[in-house]
Amino acid sequence: MRIGIGYDLHRLRKGRKLILGGVEIPYPKGLFGHSDADVLLHAIADALLGAANLGDIGKHFPDTDPKYKNISSKIILEKVYRLVRKKGYKIENVDSVIIAEEPRLAPYIPQMKRNTSWVLKIKPDEISIKAKTNEKLGYLGQKQAISAYAVVLLQ
Ligand code: MG
Repeated sequence: MRIGIGYDLHRLRKGRKLILGGVEIPYPKGLFGHSDADVLLHAIADALLGAANLGDIGKHFPDTDPKYKNISSKIILEKVYRLVRKKGYKIENVDSVIIAEEPRLAPYIPQMKRNTSWVLKIKPDEISIKAKTNEKLGYLGQKQAISAYAVVLLQ
């Protein structure tokens, strides 16, 4: 068994789509980044890489590479899990939390879980996604950014 932790944060900007867990969520702002800036999938990808001791997402998908411009993070996550499987590991379970003051994410979580379990080819019961606010405090609470944490257990 091996455990991994992942964390990510992206700034909110006007003129960007808000994509979390592969779901496009209606909101006046979206996350700014080189890819689609899906913080949840990035945190899960980093947790997977960490558990397998394969470095981090920046090493495998540098944001200086035009090939990854606006890439769907579902592709990133799928490629990351392929590397992990190549090392002989498979996912036991994933737990995660998104920290966003707005919008309310609860209605989108079932679809995020379906997307993520589909990308990773794991059972829906093996992926947990939670959401919370930052109680209006700091840059997360002031809606300047959204962040996510994930932990992964591999066997
Ligand atoms: Mg990221």
